[in-house]
Amino acid sequence: MEFRLIDRIRERTAQGREDVRLGIGDDAALVAPPAGQDLAIAIDTLVEGVHFPLGTAPADIGWKALAVNLSDLAAMGASPAWALLALTLPRQENDALRSFIDGFAEGFARLAQPHRLALVGGDTTRGPLAVSVAVHGFVPPGQALVRSGARAGDAVLVTGTLGDAAAGLALWQRGARVDEGDGRAAYLIERLHRPTPRLAAGLALRGRASACIDVSDGLLADLGHLCEQSGLGAEIEAPLLPFSPMLLGAFDGEVARDFALAGGDDYELCFTVPPARVAEVQGDLARLGCGATHIGRMVEGDGVRVRDGLGQWLETARRGWDHFAP
Ligand code: ADP
Ligand code: MG
Repeated sequence: MEFRLIDRIRERTAQGREDVRLGIGDDAALVAPPAGQDLAIAIDTLVEGVHFPLGTAPADIGWKALAVNLSDLAAMGASPAWALLALTLPRQENDALRSFIDGFAEGFARLAQPHRLALVGGDTTRGPLAVSVAVHGFVPPGQALVRSGARAGDAVLVTGTLGDAAAGLALWQRGARVDEGDGRAAYLIERLHRPTPRLAAGLALRGRASACIDVSDGLLADLGHLCEQSGLGAEIEAPLLPFSPMLLGAFDGEVARDFALAGGDDYELCFTVPPARVAEVQGDLARLGCGATHIGRMVEGDGVRVRDGLGQWLETARRGWDHFAP
């Protein structure tokens, strides 16, 4: 049975890559890393009820499990190549199992294919629904976008828009779904279930961004990590935060700001560049379609401070989604 499931996954995610010597089916995969490149490796787990809500479509789970990992590669400036998939599946009827696998593999493949990512192996076990994906990518030595390279005075930028996914989750929890209701709710829920990893932006930032992180747990928490690793603080101007028209159509500005600062799941890139390079980098990311907004700057000190339009510092006690918060 399990082998048939694995066959279904293999057929649906097939991706020809010359550097895969041996893919799914043996005791281990064999791959040929390119000479002269560093390997960038990351793994992330999604647990039902924690990282995606109950009732999430299998195809959305497949997409998101890969997307959150590709986002980590994007944040390193790496280009993706191979993935491993560990699936923990609840005991269920064969039909239900097959339909879950088919949907999951379709969502996974839809994101994997345009990035030429090959699924080369994995593991399948019984238990409460959980999905781990490990990804491998390449980056030229010395060019990875680390969190620790920011300098005082660097500009802080963020790709795309913030807060959409947290808004999507709020709407989902109120019963909204993509195929019913208005287009705003559909857009925001899609941003929750089908985040877009900013891989092209990550490549464009190689050799230019001084530091970079992907925003998975809200801007305060993730920019906070970048600050900590760089030994600096950051000052953010709340009126500059980029919001989608769909978010501002569905929620008022203060709620949108909270979603952006303390919500999660946006998978945009937050990065720093010397002030003299802001315009050039913004031009390049605009051409790539996601754009980048200048939201603040790095300063001596520590922590992230946010100023409102009147110049008042906001109370930012809510530090984003913390899995280990009491
Ligand atoms: P082993 O007992 O040697 O680990 P498995 O039965 O776990 O073998 O796996 C058989 C083959 O199928 C291996 O090549 C493994 O990488 C692959 N595989 C297992 N589960 C998955 C999965 N969920 N996705 C992709 N490949 C998988
Ligand atoms: Mg195994």
